[in-house]
Amino acid sequence: MKTIQIAIDGHSSCGKSTLAKSLAAHLGFLYIDTGAMYRAITLYALRNNIIVDGGAPDEDLLRKHIYNIEVSFKRMPDGTMHTLLNNEDVEKNIRTVEISRNVSAISAVAFVREVMVDLQRKLSENSSVVMDGRDIGTVVFPNADLKIFVTASPEVRAQRRYKELIAKGDNVSYQEVFDSLVKRDKIDTTREASPLRMADDAVLVDNSEMTIEGQFQHVLNLVQNLAAYKQLT
Ligand code: C5P
Repeated sequence: MKTIQIAIDGHSSCGKSTLAKSLAAHLGFLYIDTGAMYRAITLYALRNNIIVDGGAPDEDLLRKHIYNIEVSFKRMPDGTMHTLLNNEDVEKNIRTVEISRNVSAISAVAFVREVMVDLQRKLSENSSVVMDGRDIGTVVFPNADLKIFVTASPEVRAQRRYKELIAKGDNVSYQEVFDSLVKRDKIDTTREASPLRMADDAVLVDNSEMTIEGQFQHVLNLVQNLAAYKQLT
């Protein structure tokens, strides 16, 4: 049976996951948050002294551990997906400022990316999927049926993220959030292994001035106009 792959890439904190989740739920497709996978590995690395906060990872040690790290997802009764690290539910633990600060250093390691990309393809075998990340349209699914590249200005992204963290009760300043986001963008776009870049055939969605609903409808339209989607329905 024909399956559909929708790749959603873009900068940090631009609302990719919100868009990807709602699209997947609406279309009845599988949703895979690849950022969560790199975050789970980062949590493991911090817990096992493979990286010290703010530093560079010990790649030899990481290589020794990489096949002991099992990342998976579990669907919760309310329909949301939780990330598991060696079967422990770490969904909350991976969304902290500390993980955000260290994840780009871990995700820049080439062998980590190879293992993750294999797993991402395997998890979505035989399913229609919406996958979000940084290299989905360029590396994971170069032949995706639809590629979206989401962005917004760094100030708008930092402001949204800051509000989210404050609402969660995190004690952060706007400047801290802004600096961390700009740093993450820099590492993600300049790293050697699969740097973040827009695929040549991706559709750019700058949501600085868009509502969540407006963005959703815009992308849903693109999906519904796909010949492959029309065949599926
Ligand atoms: O999307 P999210 O902010 O959760 O991603 C966290 C980090 O994981 C990114 O800043 C990036 O360094 C890394 N990442 C990646 N490739 C992906 C998804 C995320 O390098 N496909």
